[in-house]
Amino acid sequence: MPVGYYDRRMAETLPRASDLFSQPTYLPRVTRRDGRAIEDALAGPTLFDSGVKLDAAVVEATYAVEDSPLLKRLRESGVPQLVDPQTLRFTGKRFLTVAQFERVPYRPATRITADSFTPSDADALAREVMLFEQHAGASWYLAAALPYYDQDLQSWLRHNDRLLAASCAANGATDLDRKPLIAQVAPGRRLLAQPELVINRLLDHPVSAVDVQPLTLDPIKDSIEKLVQYAHFLRAIGDAGLPVIASRVGAFGLVLSALGVAAFDSGLAQAETCNLASLNRAPSQRELEGGGKTGGSGRRIYLEQLKTTLSESHATAIIENRALRSHVACPLGCCRHRGFENLAQRGRQHYLWVRDHEVDLLRKRPSEGMRADLVYEQLRTAREIGAVVTRTLRADAVEAPSFEHIDRWIAVLARETMLAAAA
Ligand SMILES: [Zn+2]
Repeated sequence: MPVGYYDRRMAETLPRASDLFSQPTYLPRVTRRDGRAIEDALAGPTLFDSGVKLDAAVVEATYAVEDSPLLKRLRESGVPQLVDPQTLRFTGKRFLTVAQFERVPYRPATRITADSFTPSDADALAREVMLFEQHAGASWYLAAALPYYDQDLQSWLRHNDRLLAASCAANGATDLDRKPLIAQVAPGRRLLAQPELVINRLLDHPVSAVDVQPLTLDPIKDSIEKLVQYAHFLRAIGDAGLPVIASRVGAFGLVLSALGVAAFDSGLAQAETCNLASLNRAPSQRELEGGGKTGGSGRRIYLEQLKTTLSESHATAIIENRALRSHVACPLGCCRHRGFENLAQRGRQHYLWVRDHEVDLLRKRPSEGMRADLVYEQLRTAREIGAVVTRTLRADAVEAPSFEHIDRWIAVLARETMLAAAA
C-alpha cells in the first residue's frame, strides 16, 4: 500500500493523507481574490450557524510567496495546505514576464525544454520546491513536475522520473521534514491514451497520492469520448491504489467523485478548464501595453440546481425572472438570510458553500453506486431545469446559456457506471 508513508512524529499533527482521501473531497484552489469569501465561509453566517468546513486547500506558489493573512488564517484554523509548485509553467516563456513569479525562489532563468533540462537541474528543482513548500507551511509536498508533452514524450518521461525520484530521496533528508508526498502528473494526449505508461513509474515511488492536471481539458466543451478517456486515466491510477486529485475541473468533479475519484480541486466561482498552452503563451501586444481585457475576467455565479457556473449576465437573467428564480433558490448559510441579494458580489463565498454541500451529500452515500445514482439524479434535474430556463429566457427574447455539457456528463456517467456494473 503506497498510502500512509510518513514519519510517526508528523502523523500526530498532520491529517493523514489516507484519511483525507477516504471519502469524496473538494479542495478550493485559493487565490488572492478569495480572501473575503474564505474568511466569511470559515466564520459562518451568524454566531449560531457554523461555517464551511474545509478539508484542505490548494494554494498556488505565486500566492504562497505572499504569506497573506488569509494563508495564516487557514493555518490557524487547521486547514491543511497543498502548494501547487506551478513548475508546469516553466516550459513556456510566459512565467518570465509575470511579476508574481519573480518571488518564486526556484524559478529558472530561462524556459525549460526537453533538450536543455539535465538530471542535476531536476535534483535541484525537486529539492528547492520542497524547501519552499515546507517554508510556506504546506502539510504535504506536491512534487515538482513537468508536462508530458506528446512531442519528445520519452524525454519528458525521463525528466519526470528524475524529478519524482529526487523528490522522494529529498523527503526527510537533511533540512526537509518528512511529509506525505503527492506526485503531479500533467498528461498530454498520448499519455492520456496510455495511463500504464505512467502508473508503473508512480508505483515505483513512495507517493501518497497523485494530482492530475491534463495539458488541455475543458469539462464544459470537451466531447464525451475525451471526458471518458480522462475519467479512465484517473480511475486507472486510482485502481492501482493511488488516490487521485483531479485538478481544475469545476462541477465535473462531482461526476468524477461519483466514479470513485478521491478528490478534486477548482477555483471559486470559475468554470474551470486546464489549458497550459494558454497559460504559457506569450502575452499579446495588447496585454503588454497594459490595455486589453482577457477573457474570463467577468464575475461568475454557480447555480447548484443547474450544475453550471454562469456568467453574471446569464445568472442575473435567471435570478431576476420570477418564473425561474424558485428553481434555483439557495437554502444554504450563504444565502439563507438574504436571498439572492448581491449574489454576484458574494459569488465566491456562495460557490464554496454550495460545493461543500454537494460533496457532503456525496459523502453521505456510502457506496460508489449510490453516489453515481445521486449525481445522475442531480444531472437529470439540471437538464430539466436547464430546458425550462432556455425556453423561458428565449420567450422573453433573452439570450440563454448553453447546458449541453449536462447531457455529455450524463452520458459519461452512464457509460462509466455501466462498465463498472459489467466488470
Ligand atoms: Zn448561496
